[in-house]
Amino acid sequence: MQEFKGESLIKFTKRFSDDSACKSYLADIKWNDGYKCKKCGHGKATVRKNQIRTCTLCHHNESPTAHTAFHKVKFGLQKAFFITFEMVNSTKSLSASQVSKRYEISRKTAWLFMHKIRRVMKSSEQYPMDGTVQVDEFTIGGKEKGKQGRSYDTKKKKIVGAVELSDKGGVKRVYALKIDDYSSKSLKVIFEKHISVNARVKTDNWKGYRPIQKAYDITQELSNSGLGMPEMHIVIHQIKSWIRTIYSWVHQEQVEHYLNEFSFRINRSQFKHSIFHKVMERVINGKHISYQEIIVAK
Ligand SMILES: [Zn+2]
Repeated sequence: MQEFKGESLIKFTKRFSDDSACKSYLADIKWNDGYKCKKCGHGKATVRKNQIRTCTLCHHNESPTAHTAFHKVKFGLQKAFFITFEMVNSTKSLSASQVSKRYEISRKTAWLFMHKIRRVMKSSEQYPMDGTVQVDEFTIGGKEKGKQGRSYDTKKKKIVGAVELSDKGGVKRVYALKIDDYSSKSLKVIFEKHISVNARVKTDNWKGYRPIQKAYDITQELSNSGLGMPEMHIVIHQIKSWIRTIYSWVHQEQVEHYLNEFSFRINRSQFKHSIFHKVMERVINGKHISYQEIIVAK
């Protein structure tokens, strides 16, 4: 198949000029390695209208979007493609109300669809950060007093973030997780999910990191208002200001999905030319997520 590459909106518009072009693209991803009937396992199908495959043995029909994250997208695939393209290529995220106006769908529909894409953007947790890594805790939401570090204001959401530095000292990758408290047990989760035991990790002097030193190479340093870890603090600032602009509709339960979106965009920024295709592969391999699952999920 011919993967879509690049960030050009003109090229994107030409390639995905209608729903049928989008369906072909999804069908190419889905059946790239051949067809297999979901019902009987037979390996041959007839291609019908709208890229539907009909099993030559049991006549089971399957559309390109069936059993994928785009299952039951009611407003048309072209809009779904464009919203996804914008989400993965913009450095600042779009709000649900912007998307609702631009694509003539309801705000609720936009919000739900964007949350599906955020789920798709969640890290596979298969490539732990290595080399030089900085870890720090911070809060988002509530009233800001310009204060760094641990806060016990219950309205604020506690976050632990990790930044992997490139060889040149820039920000290579970022992960951030919502945590319930600053205990070792809570802080350890980001290490287990995203940091290699071989990484050289820097943290501030918080005692919560000390028990984690048994398994990880951690150097502690007085925080000195963030001067010890400037890259980490730039990222914290970016996350805080982004969340602040969209804060009115960031619910407690949804915070981690916004953090996933933030990480995904930063972590993929070196691979911008293939980002859209990678997301579409994940859409096809992901499963259908219902409205209920999104609103009750944590
Ligand atoms: Zn079949």
